[in-house]
Parts: sequence; structure tokens; C-alpha cells
Amino acid sequence: MFRTHTCGELRAADSGKEVTLSGWIQTIRKFGSITFIDLRDRYGITQLVLDETLTEAIEKQNAGREWVIQAKGMVRERSNKNPNILTGDIEIAVSEFKVLNKSAVPPFTIVDDTDGGDDLRMKYRYLDLRRSPLKKNLELRFAINRAARNYLSDKNFIEVETPYLISSTPEGARDFIVPSRLNAHEFYALPQSPQTFKQLLMVSGFDRYFQIVKCFRDEDLRADRQPEFTQIDCEMSFVEQEDVLNTFEGLIKSILKEVKGIEIQGAIPRMSFADAMKDYGNDKPDTRFGMLVKNLKTQHTVHLQTLNESTFDVFNKAETVLAISVPGAAEYSRKQTDELIEWVKRPQIGMGGLAFIKYNQDGSCKSSFDKFFTPDQLTTFAEFCGSEKGDLILILAGKEERTRKAISELRLLMGERLGLRDPEKFNLLWVTDFPLFEYDEEDNRWVARHHPFTSPKPEDVQAMIENSPVITDKENYLQHPYASIKANAYDMVMNGNEIGGGSIRIYQKDLQQKMFAALGIGEEEAQQKFGFLLGAFEYGAPPHGGIAFGLDRVCSILGGSDSIRDFIAFPKNNNGRDMMIDAPGPVAEKQLKELNIKLA
Ligand code: ASP
Repeated sequence: MFRTHTCGELRAADSGKEVTLSGWIQTIRKFGSITFIDLRDRYGITQLVLDETLTEAIEKQNAGREWVIQAKGMVRERSNKNPNILTGDIEIAVSEFKVLNKSAVPPFTIVDDTDGGDDLRMKYRYLDLRRSPLKKNLELRFAINRAARNYLSDKNFIEVETPYLISSTPEGARDFIVPSRLNAHEFYALPQSPQTFKQLLMVSGFDRYFQIVKCFRDEDLRADRQPEFTQIDCEMSFVEQEDVLNTFEGLIKSILKEVKGIEIQGAIPRMSFADAMKDYGNDKPDTRFGMLVKNLKTQHTVHLQTLNESTFDVFNKAETVLAISVPGAAEYSRKQTDELIEWVKRPQIGMGGLAFIKYNQDGSCKSSFDKFFTPDQLTTFAEFCGSEKGDLILILAGKEERTRKAISELRLLMGERLGLRDPEKFNLLWVTDFPLFEYDEEDNRWVARHHPFTSPKPEDVQAMIENSPVITDKENYLQHPYASIKANAYDMVMNGNEIGGGSIRIYQKDLQQKMFAALGIGEEEAQQKFGFLLGAFEYGAPPHGGIAFGLDRVCSILGGSDSIRDFIAFPKNNNGRDMMIDAPGPVAEKQLKELNIKLA
């Protein structure tokens, strides 16, 4: 028997027991003629004490860090207790030990606060995973998976696997493709999601499906994306949006309860896409704090007038002027406001500058553009911004979209700095009523904001059927009837992150064809790419809808981290490389030949 107990298990009450433990040497230190070993396994660390004879024996073998040993001995209470570990009250007085395997000196120390750099830890991921923070992350991930499986199974969802070697499922990214040896000159695509398959399962009559599934998207990897990632993918038949939202509120609540012990009371708040953009400048607002965006140019005529009366062209000539009111920051020093100005000028934010008003405790206002406005006008601004005395009002002016994005980033920054983004607080929100289409300026056409299988709101179907998708007036594309068609789509947002998204689907062949046409997918192409789905829609497709949650992201938020990588056992780096197995890599000439591939 290798072990009677784990290294995380023994307590003072076990004193006197004869036990056997197996694990890795975390530290080994000689103290006079005796030796202390911290023995580690998945469950914890237990201190072993070796007497003089055993010390000589282990020294002879040269045992060191990360060696795997087995030790037999008696549990005894420690004189020098360690309150930091669960087994800190006891130690094992070893009577016998055996080396089970040696270890080379590890490339970094395997402790919670390791000295290993990112690349090194990725290369030796199997060693990194021995560290308890990462172990805890994977345990958290498993707990979330289990909670999801339990909830969905209890609600009659059936878990069905769908294939990975398929043809393109358009979710807006590039496909990873796989050459077929048996079908020369042809390729599979890896699924960007199981979207079409889950819809086909609805046609088959499996009215509640889920799958914890890998999805593959060949995107440029911004900071925290992975080319393969995991979704909790779900679909339901005979449902309207309301049914889907209710079911999956239940899912996320049950995950929070199981995993974090947090009970979310009441319904998850809802916000329309339009309101989210207006109040937060963002379609995934962090609602843990207020600091709502105010539009000085369009929301209120008084402010428009104030702007127009002044000679301050920065405001007058800008497409938009947006402001946030930062609580209690009126006392910011010159240095602090200068730093914020530099911050908005960074290329990632891209603004020309930042104006501000200090709404002082005594009710007076001091701004960075004093000479252009009267004190009264400044107070009007402050009041319009909902500011309290003591607030600092930050104002950005410029092009519509850039300014909106910038104010949204600035709001998050200030929220962070004021400590308003508490990682132990979990704010959930549904964002609904998204536009169905987005305008692609480069190609002067419509693209699906979600994916091509999302249905328009029932009241907008007619507008889609009756109007041609062709955009004749590029400048005024917003006037095109398609621009205001809303989707039966919804996102779930947690703490400013989109953690899930889905929609009620199109289930009628005609409307699906119309949708493809709207997206510039011709009849032939639609038939070639999605003939199977259009075909299935001829055989009694039920009304259906669903959602998919980004599991990696849910893990990282609940784990209180920004990085999804820390919650994936074997992740890729920012260049899409697996540093450990060194993939991707070249393949043998013979293999290429079999695949009829010549490298350019
Ligand atoms: N397939 C969608 C996605 O990956 C989710 C859904 O519509 O259910 O975003």
C-alpha cells in the first residue's frame, strides 16, 4: 500500500496513529542531526521528521526537492505548531522511508509564490500545476462544471457530444482547418461553436441539450483569448426569450451558490443594448459601481445651448461630448489630472485630451477650460452630470465611437482606482435587444452581430422581409431599415465581462434564406454551406433558442483573476503556441504528400 492517508488529512486527533504517506519533497532541511521534510501531494503538506539514522540514509541517497518518497511513521503533536497549514498541529515521526522516484532539480521552485517566469512555467506546465494556486484553480473549474452538469441534468437537459471535424460554423472568426487524407484536396473546419448541431438536435426532438465543449477560433490573440476555449453550450425547444433567460439565471445562480456559497436574491436585472451604450459606453457594463456616462451634447438641450453659446470649439465642433463624475476626486492634484490626461492620450485610448471640472466642496467649480464658460454654466454641467460636491467631472470630446469607447475605459479605470470593482462582489446583468446587423464599412454590407441563425424580434421580421439589404447611401447607413432591426438575442454580463450569449433562432426556412441573403450569402453558397440546416428546416423544426457560457471566463472571474490561462490545465501562449509540447510544429514530408499538400 502506497499510503494510508493524504498529506492534507492528519490532525492532532490522529496523534499516535501509524500512517504511511506518499508524495513529493517540497523542502528538505537538516537541523542538527535530524531532518525535516515537507511532503506534498494534491491535498496538502505534512511535516516529516527523520532521526539521526534516517537522516544519514536519506543524505546518502542525495534526495532533494521534488523527489517522490514514501514514509511510514507515527503521528505526533508538534511542539512548534504551524497555523498556516491544515496539518500544522502534527508531524510524522518517520520510522521507515523509501525513495519511489528521483527528480532532477526543478527549473523553478514549486511553491505558491514561485520564482518561475511565465515562459518557464508554461514550458514546465506539469510542474507548475503542482503549485497549490493552480491546483485550486482546476478544482474550482471542476466545481463549476459539476454544478452546471447537476443543474442542467436536473432540469432534463441531455448532454450530447457533437463532432469536431466539421465544416465552417460562422461565429465571426477564422476557422482552423484540417486537411482530409481520404478526401484529397478537401478540408474540415474545426467548430467555432456547435451552433448548427445543437439546432439540428432540436429538429431531432431533443428539446433540452447541453454540452461542455471545446470551440476553436483562429483569432489574433489579444491578451486573454485562447484559440481553443470551452463553452457550456445549451439549447432548448418550444421557448421564448423569457424561458431561456429564466432557465439560465437559474444555472448561474446555482453555480454561484455551489461554488462560492453566494445566493443571488431576486431576478437578474436587465438592460437594453441601447441603454448600456448610453449609460456605460459599453455593451457589457460593470454594474458594481455607478459613475454613469452623461452625454453633454445630446441628452439635454440646456447643455447643447451652453455648449453652443461658448466659443470652446473643442466641445462645439466635436461629434460627441461625454462625461463621468468621479466621486470624491475634486481634490485631485495637478499631477493627478496630468496623469489622467496622459492616460487618455495613450494610443490604445487615442483621445487628444481630457477636460475636467472640479466641483469643490464649497460649491464652486474649477475647470481646465475656465475661460470659455461662466461659473454658472460649469455648475449647470456639474448638476447635469449628477455630481455631488467634491466630485471630479472628466470630459472627453471627439468622434462618436472612439469617445464612447474611451469614456467607458476611463470609467473602468476610475472605478478600479477608487476600489469600486470589488472582486468578491458578483454583479449579474442581462443585456438584451441587440441590433441584428452590424454595418461593415469596408465591404459596404451587413454582417450578423451574433451569428446568422439569430432571429429578428417578431415585430421586425416584416422590415427584414420587405426591404432589400442593399445599402445605397453609405454615409447614411444608419437610415437603412436594417440598421434598426433588433435581434432576439441576449448576453449575460458579470462584473463587466460577457460571460454568456445566445438568442432565439430562426426556424423557418424562408426567413433563414432571407437572413443569408441579407448577409450577402448567395443562394448557391447558402445551399453549399448550410444546405443541411435549410433541409432540416423543411422537416418540422420546432421554435428554439439557446445560449453558450464561456467557461474559462466564468472560472477566472469566480477565481478572482484576470487571466483565463490560469484556469486551463494546458493553455497556449499569446502566439497560440503550446510551449510545453512545442506545437504547432512542422510535419514530415511523407505526411504532407499523403495529404496532397505542398508548402508554399
Ligand atoms: N453559438 C453561440 C456562440 O458561440 C452561442 C449561442 O448562440 O448559443 O456565441
